Amino acid sequence: MLVSVGDISARCKGCGGTDFKVLKPGTLRLTSMTTCTGCDRVTTYLDLLDDIGDQAMSRANESLANLKRNGRRGPKPKK
Ligand SMILES: [Zn+2]
Repeated sequence: MLVSVGDISARCKGCGGTDFKVLKPGTLRLTSMTTCTGCDRVTTYLDLLDDIGDQAMSRANESLANLKRNGRRGPKPKK
């Protein structure tokens, strides 16, 4: 199961895999235990969403940095 929000997928902290399995199928809750299909590392759905949040944050910071850089160095708007 791919856990993703938008185009960001949660990654296993152990092996970097993005395929997870819910231990007890049923309603997916934040506290649901999931395991990585790559290395069997046990984590929770909340942790996976947290990871997505972290990635989204660093991505946002990156594009913000890019914007600032481009703003300074970018071509001047034509009149
Ligand atoms: Zn893994």
